[in-house]
Amino acid sequence: MSAYISVMQSSRLSPDVLARLRQAGLRPTRQRLALARLLFDADNRHVTAEQLHGEALAASIRVSLATVYNTLHQFTDAGLLREVVVEPGRSYFDTNVDNHHHFFCESSGRLQDIPGELVMVGSLPQPPDGTAIRRVDVIIRVHREGEPEATA
Ligand SMILES: [Zn+2]
Repeated sequence: MSAYISVMQSSRLSPDVLARLRQAGLRPTRQRLALARLLFDADNRHVTAEQLHGEALAASIRVSLATVYNTLHQFTDAGLLREVVVEPGRSYFDTNVDNHHHFFCESSGRLQDIPGELVMVGSLPQPPDGTAIRRVDVIIRVHREGEPEATA
């Protein structure tokens, strides 16, 4: 675990939430600030919009699920978060925007970081005409031993 932790703490972004929003060109509205604090004040994590909405309500932050979605996407567009789509309609938002990959446990629904240097992709196909590869995201799907594979 210690290797993971050292990688996760190496984020280039300012730890100060307000500075992060300004740096990203986002106006620090009350709702954005409140959600950003929930997201970035803790260690790196992966949250769904529903989880963050639940945390906001628990912290007496009055915000709709739609606003949480919009804010998460704005933060993602601004480079503060990375969206990890594990299944159609199921996204996690990752506060670790450094180069890394993921284990996704289909039994528990948990996403766990893999440091970028631990995954080597041997060969990549030629990207479609007129495009260039920006990055490669690897999701290694695991399930608890002895459990049947999840059916889609
Ligand atoms: Zn991650």
